[in-house]
Amino acid sequence: MVSLLDFSVSVEMSRNESRAQPKDLERTPPAASQVGIMAAMKVRTRVAPSPTGDPHVGTAYMALFALCFARHQGGEFILRIEDTDAARSTAESEKIILDSLRWLGLDWDEGPDREGAYGPYRQSERLDIYEKYAKQLLDEGHAFHCFCSAERLNEMRNEQRRKGETARYDGYCTTLAPAEIDARLAAGESHVVRMKVPSDAICVVKDRLRGNIEFEWSQIDMQVLIKADGNPTYHLAVVVDDHLMEISHIIRGEEWINSAPKHILLYEYLGWEMPELIHMPLLRNPDKSKLSKRKNPTSIRYYERMGFLPEAVINYLGMLGWSMPDGEEKFSLDAMISNFDVERISLGAPVFDITKLKWLNGCWLREECSDEEFADRIVDWAFNRDNMLKIIPLIKERVDVFSEVPSMISFFAEGMPDVQESDFANKATSPDEVKKVLQFALWDLERVTNWKREELNQLFVDLAGRLEMKIRDVLAPVFVAISGKPVSPPLFDSMEVLGPDMVRARVRHAVDTLGGISKKQAKKLEKEYRSRLS
Ligand code: GLU
Repeated sequence: MVSLLDFSVSVEMSRNESRAQPKDLERTPPAASQVGIMAAMKVRTRVAPSPTGDPHVGTAYMALFALCFARHQGGEFILRIEDTDAARSTAESEKIILDSLRWLGLDWDEGPDREGAYGPYRQSERLDIYEKYAKQLLDEGHAFHCFCSAERLNEMRNEQRRKGETARYDGYCTTLAPAEIDARLAAGESHVVRMKVPSDAICVVKDRLRGNIEFEWSQIDMQVLIKADGNPTYHLAVVVDDHLMEISHIIRGEEWINSAPKHILLYEYLGWEMPELIHMPLLRNPDKSKLSKRKNPTSIRYYERMGFLPEAVINYLGMLGWSMPDGEEKFSLDAMISNFDVERISLGAPVFDITKLKWLNGCWLREECSDEEFADRIVDWAFNRDNMLKIIPLIKERVDVFSEVPSMISFFAEGMPDVQESDFANKATSPDEVKKVLQFALWDLERVTNWKREELNQLFVDLAGRLEMKIRDVLAPVFVAISGKPVSPPLFDSMEVLGPDMVRARVRHAVDTLGGISKKQAKKLEKEYRSRLS
């Protein structure tokens, strides 16, 4: 276990030396001599996605490692929904995340749909808990009310940057007199709650994979804990929840390392024992940038729609960050759990390579699926009753005999349509215009929250209006991008059935077929896109 803080606190911290002892929830931090007892403590890990979009393969990757780590040691794996960003979180996204993780076979012991002793497991249902701890931090002098306006904060940061300093809250509101604070609160003035952070000495973050990482406190911001709308930030909520849910090991992406000092400090302020930290290397695009949907499909649903086997996706994610003791590349989730050893996690930058995943999927299909299973799986995948019942109303009017059906519906099941540059040629629109239309459509499609034909229809009417083009000319290349054919069932109904991931992937594929968009072009297009939005 990580011992708490390795820093001395500066004088301005005025720390209350008597540590918080939340009576109902207290866990006493262990002495070093108790390490043997610690080993017997229950291992509990979690994955904590925010339901703000598509279920990301990075979430599955973290879930896989957290699950293997816990299950290998007979521990528990928890799913927590981090939905304190009320404006961006949706119930639909939460459902898709749960479905996608379940499809991959990453089952959790406790979660929003599987109550346990530490619920609720959705942060939006725990707001009173965060409020209680924010109040405790305020009462004990570890946090303060900050009334600074956005303008003042901007000026302050610009000034700091101009001087070559790290942008960091300057502590202005820590100097307010208690009477002034009370008066401003009573007057209902907009404010946030920030944590105090020392401005000298070093914080040492202990990471199981990376050893000790040192941070200067002067580089760490006085983090907002409670936003002006009363909701907690990730930083407060994650610390409170990981503690109350008795998470013993925090396994998450390396992008959170820089937040660890703030978390360590909050654990210290609240008098809680710090869980062990394991920051996993992030998945990368082939050019080594962070895996992004611009360069790779990142939604788990896309891989499901493309007909990948969940076993192969899990195997691939496992292989990206870890290796079997015997070096075997093809392994099941059960094998990964029973052989799991955190020391075998590799710290290299794992490149998510679809070609390799496809190769692995082929191995699974050929070596692990009997003909019977193959038949069952392919029906389950795309030709199940539910799916067919969505498609049949779209084609029934257009067929006389069954033999006409396969070619008509093939594009519902296929991956990327076989399109050429010439398929997009259009008398009314230049090739560059066509590419622009597709790219603008893609950006619009990425913002759709209610994936229904009416909404999609409206999206294109709006887009044509913004581009001052005829709707017919806007839809022509989209039609080719989606169906790959000169004739197909109605576009918006088809898009609804195909789903957001496949539609976006096909539009992206069309843009690539037309030569793709360079960084320079993207900048120019983004500028025009934004100006046409306003
Ligand atoms: N909600 C955070 C995310 O989606 C969780 C980070 C963590 O695991 O602490 O990345």
